[in-house]
Amino acid sequence: MKILVAVKRVVDANVKVRVKADNSGVELTNAKMAINPFCEIAVEEAIRIKEKGQADEIIVVSIGEKACQEQIRTSLALGADRGIHVETEDGLQPLAVAKLLKSIVEKEGIDLVLLGKQSIDSDNNQVAQMLAAITNMPQGTFACGVELADGKLTVVREIDGGEQTVSLSLPAVISTDLRLNEPRYASLPNIMKAKKKPIDTVTPEELGVEVSSGLKIVSVAAPAARTAGIKVASVDELISKLKSEAKVI
Ligand code: AMP
Repeated sequence: MKILVAVKRVVDANVKVRVKADNSGVELTNAKMAINPFCEIAVEEAIRIKEKGQADEIIVVSIGEKACQEQIRTSLALGADRGIHVETEDGLQPLAVAKLLKSIVEKEGIDLVLLGKQSIDSDNNQVAQMLAAITNMPQGTFACGVELADGKLTVVREIDGGEQTVSLSLPAVISTDLRLNEPRYASLPNIMKAKKKPIDTVTPEELGVEVSSGLKIVSVAAPAARTAGIKVASVDELISKLKSEAKVI
């Protein structure tokens, strides 16, 4: 079985991002970049499936600028076997990402695609669902449990107010939720070994995918600054403040 893991390069979750002065986006110059946290969980899950002897190869793909190779290299150090970098400077919309992944799925004969449920930079939560739709593969999104047995995947999904268990035939698409697993750290020997693992670079044109989009970001703005909250000593004080200061009751 061949697993494809889609790994997005995003600003590190601990960085406090600032909006650019011209409101065209967020300032990323010199910002620490990392693997999207949900994609890290997807890499970990792929490695665990392979460690159980249920997969032969894990391919990691990242789409974007040249620097995405850093996140591919990290995934290789964690345990993926090889990488594919789809190099493009265009800011891609989820449908373009899904089309590029579809082309790789078909070229490589992929049995299982693991993605994060959401990119923490653009908060789309769309690529996995779009990929499943355009490839006609079954999807198990927001996965917090994945079991593979007798050629079928059992996926436990986080849904509002509980969990839902679905059974998927392969090939399939899974998007990972936070509770699926806890990603490992890469060991130094594995970081060294990863330097020798192959990364192929392709362009959207070589994959035959048109990535232009009809969507343009008009403006990005920071949320309005809020004043700090206060602690009240009693319910009476709370009610009095709600009446006299907040004037909501
Ligand atoms: P989104 O729909 O943009 O929130 O992204 C969901 C998932 O799609 C991410 O967690 C990644 O697994 C994958 N994905 C999105 N954009 C990219 C990208 N540029 N390169 C690789 N994978 C991506």
